[in-house]
Amino acid sequence: MNLKFSFCGVENSFTTLWVIFFTHHVKECFGIVNKKYLVKFPVYLDYNSTTPVDKRVLEAMLPYFSEHFGNAASRTHAYGWIAEEAVNQARDQAAKLIHAEPGEIIFTSGSTEAINIALKGVYEAFHSKGNHIVTVASEHKAVLDTCKHLEKLGAHITVLPVKEDGLVDLNLLEQSIQPGTIAVAIMYANNETGVIQPVREIAEIIHQRGSLFLCDATQACGKISVDVQTDRIDLLCMSAHKFYGPKGAGALYVRRKNPRVILAPLIDGGGHEKGLRSGTLNVPAIVGFGKACEITRSEMTDDATRIESLRNELENRLLEFGNVLVNGNTTHRLFNVTNLSFAGMNSNAMILELKDIAVATGSACSSAIPEPSHVLKAMMVKEDLAYASLRFSLGKFTTEEDILFAVKKVNDALIKLRRE
Ligand code: PLP
Repeated sequence: MNLKFSFCGVENSFTTLWVIFFTHHVKECFGIVNKKYLVKFPVYLDYNSTTPVDKRVLEAMLPYFSEHFGNAASRTHAYGWIAEEAVNQARDQAAKLIHAEPGEIIFTSGSTEAINIALKGVYEAFHSKGNHIVTVASEHKAVLDTCKHLEKLGAHITVLPVKEDGLVDLNLLEQSIQPGTIAVAIMYANNETGVIQPVREIAEIIHQRGSLFLCDATQACGKISVDVQTDRIDLLCMSAHKFYGPKGAGALYVRRKNPRVILAPLIDGGGHEKGLRSGTLNVPAIVGFGKACEITRSEMTDDATRIESLRNELENRLLEFGNVLVNGNTTHRLFNVTNLSFAGMNSNAMILELKDIAVATGSACSSAIPEPSHVLKAMMVKEDLAYASLRFSLGKFTTEEDILFAVKKVNDALIKLRRE
């Protein structure tokens, strides 16, 4: 079907991704009530930012908003028992995804919270052993900012540089760990470049020196196989919305054996989640998280093969335009992402031209003047190339048509901007 119509004064004629909008939002924005609107959304290539909820996940969640609304901590009646049973099943599903025991899973609102519980919890619990924490310059802000906070409280933080391809320098890591190093926080896979760290070698170095390994696996879980046993991870975070589960649900894995990791709680209250995260559990979100874990465990491999070939097609076609560079190691990299610098361009100007595709830039607009991405900076990417970078991240609903469409749009944008 090829529709042609005008929306908000803009003539549209594309067949992909037409979405019917009935919503309050549309009514409010345009002051029109009780009408259907067809809105063309951009082709979504920002799956590392978040993913749509899988329909099967949504179906699993729905009863827990209504008929099964009980509090999982209510032990005295069936409403509570049913909710508790659903939470237990989700705990089991989450544990299986990373080869952990259900008792090692602490439900959180996502990875940021899990990282805060882990780092602040280790800092408080291990104060008598030392106050040194090691991390890496290309980590997510959830780790870097938590470390900055701890530094203000008296922690000694070492932030290691990365190599130009985004990988951690293992010699530097080895040298940085001292007897008073209580934890080392290194991510599994980078959200901007997809670079996958050599987690097993990292774990070996950390454990030989008697420290704990906190691994931010937010971008790895649900995409590639993560095994806390063979990877020898002590603390790990994951987040449902990165793999077709709901936002606001995730978990912290806390190792119980070899070694048993003790954390001081961040939130005090009713003692939920083994006293580490008090507060009434968000049962529907937890059910959705569990279902997303179960689905990804069985479908991960097939999705990966298909998505990787689409990513490669996109990357190869964009590289053919010339003056385009890939940021980060391309061998040790997630299958769904490519981070490209378009020499001579400015990514914000490109984004304005690329309204029909949803992609992320390598610069953060958190201040009036956009800053180049701290990840690219850590990789010593030249400033002009960092300002010229775009991240394309694909997912299970990406199609061949989406890729061809994106290539065309980028080509059009480059031609236009190079002419100006
Ligand atoms: N760590 C990484 C690598 C991420 O990509 C993200 C989210 O983008 C986070 C942590 C934070 O996750 P959440 O949104 O669950 O708080």
